Amino acid sequence: MTKTLQITDIPVAGYERVVRGVDSSCGLHAIIAVHDTTLGPALGGLRMWPYANEEEALFDVKRLSRGMTFKSAVAHTGLGGGKAVILGDPKKVKSEALYLAMGRFVDSLGGKYITAEDVNTSVQDLEIIRRATKYVTGLERKDGGSGNPSPYTAYGVFLGIRAALGWKFGSDSCKGKVVAIQGVGAVGSALAKRLVDAGAKVHGADKNQDRLKQLEKEIGLVPTSESDIMTMKCDVFAPCALGAVLNDQTIPKLNTPIVAGAANNLLLEPRHGKVLADRDVLYAPDYVINAGGIINVSVEFHPGGYDEKVSLTKIERIPQALKELWTIAKEERIPPSDAADRLAERIVADARGKKKADAAGAPGKGKPRSGG
Ligand code: NAD
Repeated sequence: MTKTLQITDIPVAGYERVVRGVDSSCGLHAIIAVHDTTLGPALGGLRMWPYANEEEALFDVKRLSRGMTFKSAVAHTGLGGGKAVILGDPKKVKSEALYLAMGRFVDSLGGKYITAEDVNTSVQDLEIIRRATKYVTGLERKDGGSGNPSPYTAYGVFLGIRAALGWKFGSDSCKGKVVAIQGVGAVGSALAKRLVDAGAKVHGADKNQDRLKQLEKEIGLVPTSESDIMTMKCDVFAPCALGAVLNDQTIPKLNTPIVAGAANNLLLEPRHGKVLADRDVLYAPDYVINAGGIINVSVEFHPGGYDEKVSLTKIERIPQALKELWTIAKEERIPPSDAADRLAERIVADARGKKKADAAGAPGKGKPRSGG
């Protein structure tokens, strides 16, 4: 066991624990943020990114870990929110020693944080991490994991789009509906296939022209330019590439009654939820509609291990969750994105209150009972 890994706490208000792990022998500089474990261990992916400095990395890991708490709360995964980032250029710093050190860093939290794939982290990297800690999810099926989450995310988004069509048009049928997908990568391409099978006319944009051509041949997807995909007249705009695409510049140019897609952090700022609502665009909050992947991973923690049937049943509740949010939004005259945040906060606060009450009521804990 190496002694070169230095772990130091970074006090951050509102977060259970934020820690820095540095191992100069292999160049590891990482931060793990455990935002909240009220609902369960904090699960969130490990991102590697060439952050300009630690401040930038800390900002990102805080934002992402809090987002995971919200996503898991609304999806009822039984998990809390956390995230990890490694500072560095993946082309330069990736090594076996680095991931082994990261594994030891994850292990030092004793299961409060559980790691998974994220930007610039592959299943192969996770396999190395697993040699140093058991707190890893999303490994291959053959290794007892739940496998690639993307098809499950796509399934949830597909069901969410149908729910949105039903809410807006009174029928959730995709027949003849035009859907514009921005980014036909792992999630977007699986979504496109489901939509075409359901009778929709699907347009797609991507930086990868070969992928577009292949989907055109395979399923009749209509290749569309990056600039047109957001402004074309359609029934659903499904952003499945980048975050922050809903902002002051883009929203006025949308020509769709529905925005429902897989990408995370779609609103540049929370206020853009209202900008969409004011234009009568129905928005499916990103972390609710794209929860299929985390739901699938969370099933690894069920007694008896991963079971796809359990996962699909839970993912099939996404439309109901969305309808509840749209109902709250309508009744309380708030944007659905705010309704989602409020619901997540309430779920966590209720669970925290219940935990406190249980602890106070448990024999030998809290206040002594009268007569006891
Ligand atoms: P991916 O990398 O496989 O696909 C993204 C695609 O978007 C790529 O094909 C890329 O070429 C394309 N793209 C990039 N910039 C673009 C642009 N300006 N215009 C059009 N296309 C562009 O990623 P993915 O796994 O499919 O995830 C898509 C989004 O969904 C990401 O934002 C991700 O964070 C989010 N998400 C993914 C999952 C999952 O299970 N994979 C779960 C939740 C959220």
